[in-house]
Amino acid sequence: MTDCFFCQKLASICSIPKEELVWNFPNSIVLLGKWQFYKGYCVVVAKQHARELNSLSATIRHAYFDEMCLVAKAIEETFNPLKLNYELLGNQVPHLHWHLFPRYKNDPETLMPVWLRLDRADKNPEEHHTCSGATSEYEQTSNLLRECLKKLGAKENA
Ligand SMILES: [Zn+2]
Repeated sequence: MTDCFFCQKLASICSIPKEELVWNFPNSIVLLGKWQFYKGYCVVVAKQHARELNSLSATIRHAYFDEMCLVAKAIEETFNPLKLNYELLGNQVPHLHWHLFPRYKNDPETLMPVWLRLDRADKNPEEHHTCSGATSEYEQTSNLLRECLKKLGAKENA
């Protein structure tokens, strides 16, 4: 059994709650991130375990990139952020996953990467609560993104 967090998650896609699993693409899954202060924040996880983009075949890499861009478009159309931040880091979990953070007018730290605030949120319950957004809205957020992805013709894994 692998000790990779995302490989374990991918091994049991069926057990991912519906509000968390936004979409199941042929080459990636889309998870609603827990920091919904950034409304629509998603994580696009490659289905193939790889540390770096250059480890994927060109065909899979291009398809993964296109799937990520389609999610970005869905976030943009659904929630109309000022700007999307695209982040492919992997320092904590070295399995390819794009963080798509929509940034809005109400963002108190517009010029900073979100991670400084989220690092504080992990240590401070009040900041944690704010950054998590309204958990009651997670299901609706997922549904809206799903509807938009359907409208955009997103491919679904059979
Ligand atoms: Zn993995």
